[in-house]
Amino acid sequence: MRASLPAVRNLGILAHVDAGKTTITERILYVTGTTYKRGEVHAGTTVTDFDPQERARGITIFAAAVSCDWDGYRINLIDTPGHVDFSGEVERSLRVLDGAVAVFDAVAGVEPQSEAVWRQADRHGVPRIAFVNKLDRAGADLDTAVASIRRRLHPVPLVVQLPIGRESDFTGVVDLLRMRALTWPDGCPAVREGPVSDELVDEARRRRRQLEEAVAELHPGALEEFCAQGTVSARTLSGALRDVTRSGDGLVVLCGSAYKNRGIEPLLDAVTAYLPSPLDVPPVRGIQDGVARERPADPAAPFAALVFKVAATATGRLAYLRVYSGTVRKGTVVWDASAGRTERIARLLRVQADRHSEVDVAVAGDIVAVTGPKAARVGTTLCDPGDPLVLEPPTAADPVVSVAVETRRSADTGRLAAALASLTEEDPSLVVRSDPETGQTVLSGLGELHLEVAVEKIRRAWNLEVAAGRPEVAYRETVVRGVTGLMYRHVKQDGGAGQFAHVVLDVEPADGGFLFRSAVVGGRVPREYIRAVEAGCRDALAEGPLGGHPVTGLRVTLTDGATHQKDSSEMAFRTAGRLGLREALRASEMRLLEPVAEVAVTVAEDAVGAVLGDLAARRGHVVDSAVRAGTANVTATVPLAELFGYASRLRSRTQGRGVFTARPAGYALAPEAGAGD
Ligand code: GDP
Repeated sequence: MRASLPAVRNLGILAHVDAGKTTITERILYVTGTTYKRGEVHAGTTVTDFDPQERARGITIFAAAVSCDWDGYRINLIDTPGHVDFSGEVERSLRVLDGAVAVFDAVAGVEPQSEAVWRQADRHGVPRIAFVNKLDRAGADLDTAVASIRRRLHPVPLVVQLPIGRESDFTGVVDLLRMRALTWPDGCPAVREGPVSDELVDEARRRRRQLEEAVAELHPGALEEFCAQGTVSARTLSGALRDVTRSGDGLVVLCGSAYKNRGIEPLLDAVTAYLPSPLDVPPVRGIQDGVARERPADPAAPFAALVFKVAATATGRLAYLRVYSGTVRKGTVVWDASAGRTERIARLLRVQADRHSEVDVAVAGDIVAVTGPKAARVGTTLCDPGDPLVLEPPTAADPVVSVAVETRRSADTGRLAAALASLTEEDPSLVVRSDPETGQTVLSGLGELHLEVAVEKIRRAWNLEVAAGRPEVAYRETVVRGVTGLMYRHVKQDGGAGQFAHVVLDVEPADGGFLFRSAVVGGRVPREYIRAVEAGCRDALAEGPLGGHPVTGLRVTLTDGATHQKDSSEMAFRTAGRLGLREALRASEMRLLEPVAEVAVTVAEDAVGAVLGDLAARRGHVVDSAVRAGTANVTATVPLAELFGYASRLRSRTQGRGVFTARPAGYALAPEAGAGD
């Protein structure tokens, strides 16, 4: 059977760690009849967090795709990790989603990580609705949470529910569109609907009015009705909320308690009513024979899909696909546009976390897992062999922290290499290399926790005894004062064909990565050799003169050169470019760059002095600090190298009450050797 397109929602749940994503996912699966038993995070029995490490740590690390059905719609749910060290996964998930539910904690409001994920979603233009969770907690308040959302994230909040009861007495919500009370009495698994009680009816009417006014300000249709009739009907409101959600002009806000299973059905109704279907989002872009192309979300168009996750599971090697156009069937031969080979789709699976049901066909807009394609990696395009196309791959963040890993038994070296290869395939933000000087195997990733989890996975999934060294940050090198007119002559004459290339280079500091230009006049160096010099310079950037770190932030100008009639070749000029730039960098004044993170710390007011002192000792620069209601929020930029172990230090300084998040904030000049000692 074919799922008709508008009836699909590809949905992500975005939130700060602990806001309740995993619990909400569980409840959605329960309410939609996808699972029959409710899982609890603290009991370690949830469906999406099926990796044993996730259960042990109680956090969602590896995004899992889950399908469920609600009211005639298929909802493909991508669970996204909230920890900043795994923002590579978030980025990859955002790429394939059409809409998201942003979850907030009704006590904490907007937390630093929810802000970071919100900005990521902004960048990808993902339409969102908000769910304020944990309304059952002591201190929970919908209005305060909404004020915090407005203040920190600047949307226009459109609150469509009024909570019934506070804190532990929170039992349901008034649906302000239909003006009906939805309650979830204790011990009753399903929602009950009834009239709004007398004591709430005035407040409900007041809030409905506020909602009508706010929507009328954003939507011409609603405004017209409001002016003509003095009210806006539920139907008009619903259509307008849909439009402003998709345009990003307003943010629909719902509330509930996932833990107590209250508020999930209306959340699902809002997902299907307001968030876009795959048809509502712009056609996907790709490249065909060097020309940019668009593909519509049409089952009849040529097939094109993007692999956004690869996972080794008990079912075999699964590639998770977002189908952007066309139709794919079990047994079809497709083209792997990235590896340049044909592959057969052996099985098509609809995924329910760690369980799968086999299907025969998937169409544009769908998210499925497939077995068969052997070379497919994250970012691979699979497409119609007769109409090949390469879709834009998701961007991967640069790894900034490394650890040396080794097995305790040398007999296990081969298996370690296999384990690392499989890890990097599943998570492209992990990189493995061999240190040329020490011969050690070095694993690099986005942060300390990212690497800890990776190493732990090797231990458990591969049953290998591995030792990891101390984490180290990935330095870079940059030019602070360059050189002009550096001459390099590459000549080799040992019988046979010789090699001859002569180049003259200027090197100067520049913003950004690496810029290259030629100022050669009179054709003294032919164009193809200039390109070879540029390629050679790029080769030289891999290792800088200070410590063999990658070099960035420079402009190289080829000012002159000479060729030899017989002995010049592209290879000779590439070698001259590489060795010439290497020499030029040795002659330049170079400085180390170190990765820095933006750290947001939240502590009780009385601990703020200790936290500021500690940040200063870690070479941190405070960019913002504010105290409100006894709680201090401090934002600082801190070199990543100084952040190792910060989580446990903060816990001990604040008796466990301080929280912090860190996100990569690029590179900054490292202190000069000897300075500050
Ligand atoms: P995630 O990190 O965002 O996936 O959050 P989890 O779903 O793991 O929830 C974090 C913690 O908050 C767990 O201990 C949950 O049991 C708890 N939790 C989740 N939802 C609620 C809620 O609605 N009310 C209360 N009181 N606790 C909740």
